[in-house]
Amino acid sequence: MMNKLRFEGLLFPSMIFFLAACSGSLRKIPETFRPIESSGLITVPPGYRSMTIQYLGAGGLYLLNDDSGILIDPFFSNPNIFKVGASLLFNTRNLGSRPKMISLGMKDINSNQAKFAGHVKAIFVTHSHYDHLMDVPAVFGKLGNKPMVYLNRSGYNTCYKLIDTNKMIVLEEHMTSQYHGTPSKPIVLKRKKGRVNIYPILADHNPHVKHLKAFDGDVTKPDTNKRLGRKTRGNDWLEGNTFSFVIDYIDEDGVIELRIFIQSSSCNPVAGFPPETIPKHRVDIAFLGVASYKFSPMYPAELLDTMKPKKIVWIHWEDFFRRYSKKKPRTVRSTDVPDFFIKEKVAGRKDDSYVPWPGATFEIRY
Ligand SMILES: [Zn+2]
Repeated sequence: MMNKLRFEGLLFPSMIFFLAACSGSLRKIPETFRPIESSGLITVPPGYRSMTIQYLGAGGLYLLNDDSGILIDPFFSNPNIFKVGASLLFNTRNLGSRPKMISLGMKDINSNQAKFAGHVKAIFVTHSHYDHLMDVPAVFGKLGNKPMVYLNRSGYNTCYKLIDTNKMIVLEEHMTSQYHGTPSKPIVLKRKKGRVNIYPILADHNPHVKHLKAFDGDVTKPDTNKRLGRKTRGNDWLEGNTFSFVIDYIDEDGVIELRIFIQSSSCNPVAGFPPETIPKHRVDIAFLGVASYKFSPMYPAELLDTMKPKKIVWIHWEDFFRRYSKKKPRTVRSTDVPDFFIKEKVAGRKDDSYVPWPGATFEIRY
C-alpha cells in the first residue's frame, strides 16, 4: 500500500552518509551573497506598493499583503538528526510537533507582522514530508480564525484526524502542470483591495542522498489512528505530490500587480514551471530551494533562463536539524551549498539574489 522508501542502491552506506554529512559553516557561501540576517528590502519597479514576506526556515514563508496572510510550510519543531535518523532507519516513533517551538516561531512572526494570527487566510503545503507538514496541525490549532489548509491528497489522508476535514482542500483538485491542456482555475483569496490568485503546479522532489529518497510515496487512505500530540514516525509523513505555487496579487481592475513563484524543492526541469494555461506574466520574485540541487544538473539554470525572475530568494538552504533560532545558521546537510552559489547561472544573478536567515523579514516594494 505505502511505498515508504525508494531504494535504488544500498541503504546502509547511504544512511551513514546521510547521518554523517557535515553541515558547513555559513561563511563558506561566497561573500558576494550577503545574508539577510533579520530584515531586507526587495524593490521591483514601480515600487509604490508594499507587502512583507518572512522566511521561516526550511520551506517556510509568511506572506502578508494588506489584510491577507498566507502561510506556507510553517515548520519550527526541527527534530535533531539522530531522531530523524532513528525514525528513518528503525521506524522509531519519535517525531512530533514541539509546542514551545511552535509558540516561539509564531511569536517571531507576530513581532514582525501586526496581528499575524487574525490575518492568516490560508495555509499552503508544498508536499507532505515532516519538515513541511508536521507542524501544520499544531499551527492550525493555534490560529483562532481557522484558515483553510491546502495540501496534497497524501497530506489530507495523513492529517485526517489532525485537522478538521472541512478545512482541508486537496491541491490535486486545483492543480495545473506542463501536461494539463485546460486553462486552470486559480484558488482565489480576497484581500482589502483586489484579490490573490494561487496556482498549484505539479512539481517534483529530488532524492535526499544519492539513490535514496526518504519518506517517499503516498498515504492512500485516511489515517484514522493519528492523534494530536502523539509522536510519529518519519514514514507517517509521506511526500505525496510536490507542488510549486504561482501567487498573483491582483488589483481591483483585474491587473496582476505582483507575481511570486515558490518552489521549495529542487527538481528536474520542467516540473513545477508555470505552464501556458495560466495568465502570462513575468515572475517578479522567485523563492527557490537549494537542498539536494546536485541531483538535477539543470537546476536551477533552466528555471532561471526560462522564468527570468526579477529577484531571487534562496530558501531551504540551512540545516533544519538544528533548533529554530535567530542564531547564525549552518548550511543544510548532504548538500554542497557553497558550490551551489558559485554555479555560473547562480553567481550571475548575485546582484538580484537574497539568502535569508530563518526569521528574516523582507519588505517588498512593488
Ligand atoms: Zn521534502
